[in-house]
Amino acid sequence: AKDAGRNTHRYFRPELQKAALVKRTLEKELTLAIERKEFELFYQPRVDCQKQTVLSAEALMRWHHPQKGIVLPGDFIEALEETGLIHQAGDWIIEQAGKDQRRLAKSGYDFPLSINISPKQFERSDFVLRLQENLAKTGCPTDRIEIELTEGMLMGEGYDAKSILTKLCDVGFSIAIDDFGTGYSNLAYIQDYPISSLKVDRSFMQMIDDQSPVIGMILSLCRLVSVTAVAEGVETIGQLEWLQLNHCNQYQGFLYSKPLPLTDLFGLLKDPPQL
Ligand code: C2E
Ligand code: CA
Ligand code: CA
Ligand code: CA
Repeated sequence: AKDAGRNTHRYFRPELQKAALVKRTLEKELTLAIERKEFELFYQPRVDCQKQTVLSAEALMRWHHPQKGIVLPGDFIEALEETGLIHQAGDWIIEQAGKDQRRLAKSGYDFPLSINISPKQFERSDFVLRLQENLAKTGCPTDRIEIELTEGMLMGEGYDAKSILTKLCDVGFSIAIDDFGTGYSNLAYIQDYPISSLKVDRSFMQMIDDQSPVIGMILSLCRLVSVTAVAEGVETIGQLEWLQLNHCNQYQGFLYSKPLPLTDLFGLLKDPPQL
């Protein structure tokens, strides 16, 4: 049978069997991870471009895997979505962010935290209510939480995105459009929908280095429609200086800080980096 191996792979596709096994293992591990509370929210500060003050922070999920150590969302979010575990994870994320916001507020840092939402959560009819109920457990007001959505969700079918955004906004949440510029969308929504910030995707920072006019155009658009412009993935002083000259409001990126555990965020707030 071993000799035949080379010719039979087309029919048995051992790589597919292996992929299915990896997927099943991951699914089991993620179920346990939720039970055993192996997830943690890290926070990356969002900073005022001119004053270099921290105005908010984005919650980014981390998985403390019992064997592999810290695992990044790129390696498990998709599996959470495919298995439906994203709903339980989502309940945990908003509740944890609420608790962390209260801890920050008690120490004098009463700024909003933003959380990321998966399309699978967004399209459920109980999406907004579920967020509200989980947040209510923590005593954190809705106006201290910003919801990050991607353009794809606004264009999705089977629901009325505008009414969901309106509901989010009516109950007090603010809304950011994440990865802005990477979607293929009709920009009209920027004026029509209750959006507070546009997070310009990290891929545009390369354009600053390449002197492309496109990122400047996006910043002008933000000014015209009075939406806060947030640059993502700022890594160099050169990029920050360009953003300052071109009226970008806020930025996030390794230049100021990578995402940090809450205790380290407290440390950074007490002793901010000098840029
Ligand atoms: P995102 O929402 O666009 O988050 C920004 C990502 O860029 C984060 O990766 C962050 O660590 C990284 N980043 C920040 N500054 C820099 C920089 O200066 N340079 C570079 N090269 N990267 C930078 P992370 O934490 O691995 O998250 C990846 C994606 O996973 C997120 O992209 C988001 O789409 C998703 N994600 C993370 N946490 C959650 C969550 O709690 N729920 C959901 N649904 N998705 C999440
Ligand atoms: Ca985000
Ligand atoms: Ca982003
Ligand atoms: Ca992203």
